[in-house]
Amino acid sequence: MDELKKRIREEGIVIDSDILKVDQFLNHQIDPVLMQHVGEAFAEAFVQSSITKVLTIESSGIAPALMTGLKLGVPVLFARKKKPLTLNTSILTTQVYSYTKKVHNSIFLEKAMINSEDRVLIIDDFLANGEAAMGLVRLIEMAGASVEGIGIVIEKSFQEGRSKLDRAGYAVYSLARISSLADHQVTFIDND
Ligand code: 5GP
Repeated sequence: MDELKKRIREEGIVIDSDILKVDQFLNHQIDPVLMQHVGEAFAEAFVQSSITKVLTIESSGIAPALMTGLKLGVPVLFARKKKPLTLNTSILTTQVYSYTKKVHNSIFLEKAMINSEDRVLIIDDFLANGEAAMGLVRLIEMAGASVEGIGIVIEKSFQEGRSKLDRAGYAVYSLARISSLADHQVTFIDND
């Protein structure tokens, strides 16, 4: 997605050789127009998959997931990183290793929010080692629902997440694929 790659090139800050900061439009301040286009791109990619629900993880996945759900006309569900007091009915939970924070966290979904009829599209802001995506996959599978695809805004293709998800057989669609962050430069896989 050229518009997204342009924003990454112009506003992204390479923190070190494996972390990219995009706080100007995605992770802190959010550009609604860009997010609308992101949602349209995901919706177009998965329109044939009869998606019934979009699932993401709080908080940075919510903006792109919301715009995707809006375009597909389906609800958007987000896994929580803390178990709220109100979430004391039946829950689904799994552990996810956070690459940026270097800790294991539990993530939670209320069981009643997802059922075996659901055809779920996972959306997330970044794909690094695939821990968050695989955690969401496990929650969907616990609910007996099906994973129809995984949409990623920014994929760091040099980390192992993409190949892990490909090997597991999931349909992954990433809007920007980064092959390297070496020398404080962002290089995209298609080199433009
Ligand atoms: P994974 O679970 O694939 O290892 O990492 C994905 C999650 O870690 C994303 O949900 C995102 O929040 C965070 N993350 C991983 N790499 C980056 C990065 O380079 N920049 C930012 N801003 N977040 C990242």
